[in-house]
Amino acid sequence: MLPAAKQAACHSNAFHDAGTSTTAMGTAATGGVPAAFRGAVLWRPKMTAKKLLRITGAQIVQLDEPPSVLDGTDLWVADGRVLALLPTGTAAPMEGPVETLAFQKALVIPGLINCHSHSASSLLRGCIGGVPLDLFVLDAQARRAPKPLRQVRVAVMLQATEMLRRGVTATVDHFRHAGLPTVEAVSAVFSAYQEVGLRAAVAPMYEDRRYTDSLPIDQAELPPGVRKRWFGSHPPAPENYFAMMEEIATEWRRRDRLQLLLGVDGPQRCTPHLLELTGDFAARHGIGLHTHVLEAKTQALVAPPEHGGSFVAYLDRFGLIGPSSSLAHFVWCTARDIEIAAERRVNVVKQPGEQSPAR
Ligand SMILES: [Zn+2]
Repeated sequence: MLPAAKQAACHSNAFHDAGTSTTAMGTAATGGVPAAFRGAVLWRPKMTAKKLLRITGAQIVQLDEPPSVLDGTDLWVADGRVLALLPTGTAAPMEGPVETLAFQKALVIPGLINCHSHSASSLLRGCIGGVPLDLFVLDAQARRAPKPLRQVRVAVMLQATEMLRRGVTATVDHFRHAGLPTVEAVSAVFSAYQEVGLRAAVAPMYEDRRYTDSLPIDQAELPPGVRKRWFGSHPPAPENYFAMMEEIATEWRRRDRLQLLLGVDGPQRCTPHLLELTGDFAARHGIGLHTHVLEAKTQALVAPPEHGGSFVAYLDRFGLIGPSSSLAHFVWCTARDIEIAAERRVNVVKQPGEQSPAR
């Protein structure tokens, strides 16, 4: 079996949503099918398929170097996996019942990747609207409430289904579950993605500082209600997080389409002790960190002066900046942050509509 074809597993739901000019195939991680395989049968595990799908009449995007668009090509899928790219009208490359999806003015693209999502929030949409991040978090207590496992599962199913319908076939789920995710809750998340068939990297969220302690504010000025809610809460010790992660890693670290990432929250919400343990865990298990970095201006104001005001330099000290890690938002970054991120080839995740301030 050819490695490229092996990775190009696709989810048939993505194709059936192709009533408009855009649809999706495979996964973006494949980078498309290499040019050398065009016009060829990509893999042949057996001579008869349970179901063959032919997509015809669409242009097919190839993410080669340079990218290209194929015309006059049929895309064949056998039992859910991309099988062949053949000139339009060529006979089926394998035995089996054929379903045809015929398009006009459609584009077939590799599956999209949503690099930053919070499945737990998919059931909380519309609860709070139109306020800056810090005010949102101070008010959004429901995000930190423990949820029944069924609710955890439904939230993932909802998010995953919505993404598949929009051509997204892989995601990073920065999973929030109360103050400390449990083995049962994280397992429920993995199981739900497995059931849907979406590729997912799950990064359980955790921080060991109170949110109010991470803000550049005079806490005495906070409204009494906010103080009462936050000052009474004490995050569990970091050792509890890593005990949970050890257990999860045993079962889910890398499994089929799933993988585990560290998900400790933004560096300003973590003590150096927590980040040290995070670096140790990352090194021992060979996994990366997914975290929020410089999402709001208030975070830029608390960037560590001993690291030249660079959160990226600070995280780098713990061995957490590299190709396996990803930094979500990165809006209020400094020139030094950008320089180190580029040097270390860490992934930076931008959200649609999000702009870095002009400097
Ligand atoms: Zn986020």
